[in-house]
This record gives sequence, C-alpha cells and structure tokens, in this order.
Amino acid sequence: MPKIIDGTAVAADVLAKLKVVAQQLTGETGVVPGIAVVIVGQDPASQVYVASKGKKAKECGFHSTEHALPTHTTEEELVALVEELNADFGIHGVLVQLPLPDHIDSGRIIQTIAPEKDVDGFHFINVGKLGTGQLDTAFVPCTPAGSMILIERVHGRDLSGFNAVVVGRSNIVGKPIANLLLHANATVTIAHSHTKNLPELCRSADILVAAVGRPEMIKADWVKPGATVIDVGINRISGGSNGKARLVGDVAFEEAATKAGAITPVPGGVGPMTIALLMANTLTAASRAAGRAFALEACS
Ligand code: NAP
Repeated sequence: MPKIIDGTAVAADVLAKLKVVAQQLTGETGVVPGIAVVIVGQDPASQVYVASKGKKAKECGFHSTEHALPTHTTEEELVALVEELNADFGIHGVLVQLPLPDHIDSGRIIQTIAPEKDVDGFHFINVGKLGTGQLDTAFVPCTPAGSMILIERVHGRDLSGFNAVVVGRSNIVGKPIANLLLHANATVTIAHSHTKNLPELCRSADILVAAVGRPEMIKADWVKPGATVIDVGINRISGGSNGKARLVGDVAFEEAATKAGAITPVPGGVGPMTIALLMANTLTAASRAAGRAFALEACS
C-alpha cells in the first residue's frame, strides 16, 4: 500500500508550531507578525484565496490587513499602496494577489515589494538568493517550500543519492522546487513541454514532482515502483457532484498510487501547505525585523 501524504495534517502541524513561535516572539519582543494582502478586482478564486489567507493569519495570532481595490485601479495607485506598506512598521509581509488586471504590469509590482517583506518570494533578490543557496536570508515561494516539507517528512532533509525529476519549469513552482531539491543534495532534472521521452524520464525518478497544469497527465507507468510523487497541480474538470467541477492534480492519482511508495492527493496534498508556508514566511519576516533568526526547520 502506498503512503498517502496527508498535506492537511502536516499543514495543521506546521501552523500549530508557528503559533507557538509567534506567541514567544510577541511575548519577548512585543512584535506581532503582520501581513498585508492586496487584491485588485473581483476574480472569485482570488477572493477565496485572500479570505483564507486573512483567516489563517488571525488563527496564528498575526495582525492581518486586506486591501481590496477596484479593477480600474491604476498601476501608479497600486505602486503607491505597496510603497506605503513597505514603510509600515506593523506590516512584515506584503502579498499582492496574482493575477492582476491586464493593464497593470505584475512584474513591476512584484519588484516594488521590499525584498525583506516579499513573503511570496518572487522578488529578484529572493529568487537570486534561492538560486545561490542563501536560504538563511531568502524568502522561498510558498508552494515549493511546502512541497519540500512533505518530501522531508518522507525522506528527511538530506536527499543525497536520490534522483528527482520536476515536470514544469515555471518561475513560481518548477524552478524553485528544483533549486530546493538541489540544495538538499538530490540529483535534479527539470522537464518541460519540449522534453523528449517524458514517461521514461519520469520512471527514473525516486522523487517525482508534477507542476504542469494538465489534468492527470502522469500515469501509473510513468512512476518508478516505490517513488515519492508530489502533485502540485490543481485542475478543475467536469464530473463533480451536482454537475459541479471537481479538482484533480497533474497525476492520475488512483493508478499512480498503485506504483508509488508515497504520494500526495489532490485536494489535501500540496494545497494546504501553501498557505501554511505563507504564514511561516510572515513569521520569518517579523522575526528578522525583530533582530531574531527564525529557521523554517523549526516547523518542518
Ligand atoms: P505554468 O506556469 O503554466 O507552467 C507549467 C509548466 O508545465 C511549464 O513549464 C510547461 O512547459 C510545462 N508543461 C506544460 N505542458 C507540458 C507537457 N505536456 N509536458 C511537459 N511539461 C509541460 O504553471 P504553474 O504556475 O507552474 O502551475 C503548475 C500547476 O500547479 C497548475 O496546475 C497550478 O494550478 C498548480 N499550482 C498549485 C499551487 C498550490 O498551491 N498547490 C500553487 C501554484 C500552482 P514550458 O515551460 O515548456 O511551457
């Protein structure tokens, strides 16, 4: 039987640990971790994500503010708000919910966030720190960092001798996960839409990470017997109850689970880790602002 990696339970465990560390930080320094979430427009999925981020922040004992701006907000107005939040001593993490409306340059907004408050880990400074292995002072994007905690729960922190294949090379998921695996001493291959013989390559993986955005693309015969399979994909397809959409990952879970040694389900795998790691990054930012080191390992 494969081990189903319960991301919901691991995320709850991480959040419980964060809450304790946050209480200590506040008790000893008076600093209450603060996060500001900015949303522009009415995208329903983004509104759900923003609401759940605010709720989780409050559960962790953080100070949380939400800035909901209308769709017609100009780029200059958004830049001005981000600069205001950068200068706010009560706010340690600034997150601008993506996607932004088409008339706003997302890249410019991300680069306007102060690197020390960039809890999404998308600023060039943080990307560069991750790429050069300076994790002590970096912010690592939440989904990749959460995926690594799930891998650590199976294999520990040192992945020496493991072959890892990451399918997907996006800046927010594939590349940072590959960098984290490399940092943990795995031997890493990154695959993408131009990769030849993808099933064969995947079959060489002791650790297989799918971050593609294609429903159930990875089949059982792509999985090495006993491999650890981390499914980052979130895809909505028809066939849910009452005519609603249902969520599936990039891995054909039922069949891949017959081959895997450990596998994340969708939902309930990587998804819950993303928000937990956003809280971890906020606590890291607050700790650094208070002159303290907070290592994510304390929660992993
Ligand atoms: P993305 O930016 O669209 O990148 C997809 C990657 O998959 C690209 O590198 C693309 O290759 C590659 N790809 C596409 N089709 C392929 C194929 N047939 N064979 C091999 N590679 C292929 O997506 P993303 O933002 O990384 O997200 C990936 C998935 O993770 C999505 O389902 C997304 O919803 C999910 N996600 C989940 C969370 C979470 O919290 N769990 C967070 C973020 C994203 P090219 O570069 O060659 O085009």
